[in-house]
Amino acid sequence: MKNIGEIVGNFNKIEELFFEQTTENIIQLANMVCSEIYGEKVFLRGLIEFSNQCNANCLYCGIRKENKNIPRYTMTNEEIFEVVKKGYESGLKTFVLQSGENNTTLSHRNLCNLTTEIKKHFSDIAITLSCGYFNKTQLKNLKDAGVDRYLIRFEVADEKIYTYLKNGEKLSKRIEMLYNLKELGFETGSGFMVGLPGETDLVLLQNLKLCYDLNLDMVGIGPFIPHPDTPLKNATLQPLEKTLKMVALLRILLPYSNIPATTAAGSIDILGREKMLSSGANVLMPNITPIKYKQNYVLYPNKICINENGFGCIKCLEKRVTAIKKEISFEIGTSKNFNRRIPK
Ligand code: SAH
Repeated sequence: MKNIGEIVGNFNKIEELFFEQTTENIIQLANMVCSEIYGEKVFLRGLIEFSNQCNANCLYCGIRKENKNIPRYTMTNEEIFEVVKKGYESGLKTFVLQSGENNTTLSHRNLCNLTTEIKKHFSDIAITLSCGYFNKTQLKNLKDAGVDRYLIRFEVADEKIYTYLKNGEKLSKRIEMLYNLKELGFETGSGFMVGLPGETDLVLLQNLKLCYDLNLDMVGIGPFIPHPDTPLKNATLQPLEKTLKMVALLRILLPYSNIPATTAAGSIDILGREKMLSSGANVLMPNITPIKYKQNYVLYPNKICINENGFGCIKCLEKRVTAIKKEISFEIGTSKNFNRRIPK
């Protein structure tokens, strides 16, 4: 592959790569781009799945409202604070608070108070939320309270498939929120699942195009894994290679973005996360949710690390990362895409 400079960050060239190059070649290029920009560093984020209460009924998700087979929980602010404190003492500098979508138990006011409290004690950290939809005023309040980053995947860029998977919800609503996040100065993350029912090559390219148009600071993608307690239980699990190709294309398309090696990849292949890190990803998210809760945050089956203490996960990840000749970084790890977009 010649003229790398012409390929990186150029959607038309990415389309050519998608159809004309082998996955192996695409991955090789993605690795070069990743090393050039982030070196061999892998940033860590402490993931706290603080509530599985959800009012949404997404067809793919194990914590959808109609799944009555799981006990529901919401951690108290004190419990969340304690986990952040322990994470901080272990060296973590970024925390991702993730939950279902539920406006009654998860008021944005409460999230504002929680963030203010955490930031009062730990000022040199970044707080990321991943709690579904909020309107612009609510997002402004969250930003003012100290939330730095927000993750909300668009899941799939095809409107018809999106509406089907999300029970009539409109894709434009999430996209509008993503533009609001950017306007309000959040480090903005989104992404999609790979291997959803109805997905074609064209849809995969649409997904990449939307990430590009949104100029995302963070992009999380992972394989869709059918969950037995959902309407999509009989869907076919696609091979991980499909996700690896998409991660590699994303790295070439959005060279400065932070891209996590997701837990879903590690759940369908024991070396799934390492393979993602060797295909352009540069972030890992140890799950530091207390064990008694994480066992009920089952978005998909066979989710890894749910019987382990997340602080042990950090040690395990260090070994895994060293084995692929990369190194864990305890820096705050702001996206270089964000730094370029909003210079200090
Ligand atoms: N409620 C929040 C967070 C959702 S959970 C929100 O709506 O944004 C985080 C991500 O897990 C989802 O965005 C989705 O992409 C992924 N996910 C859910 N079910 C999954 C499944 N069965 N297989 C793989 N990934 C899944």
